[in-house]
Amino acid sequence: MGSANNAGDVLTDELAAGDDTVYVAYNERDTGSVEPFYVAYTDSDRTERYGYVCGACGSLAVSMDAMGRIECSDCANSRKPSQWDAAYL
Ligand SMILES: [Zn+2]
Repeated sequence: MGSANNAGDVLTDELAAGDDTVYVAYNERDTGSVEPFYVAYTDSDRTERYGYVCGACGSLAVSMDAMGRIECSDCANSRKPSQWDAAYL
């Protein structure tokens, strides 16, 4: 659905990941059970995908399995595969 946040805000934010820096795309997200998961990239141009950032606790320890399930290992936030677009069936 449409977003009301179209005022030209910065939609990419830097986040420290150990010795690396990842760039979180706040306009690219998947709905989680608690808070959304945001897509993280290894560069600010969003060319190389790093993974997901948990919107609930800010952790990068988010895993995704082959079924499309996303799960944060630091809190209870997760996304069920059934919420996913069924285009890959
Ligand atoms: Zn979390």
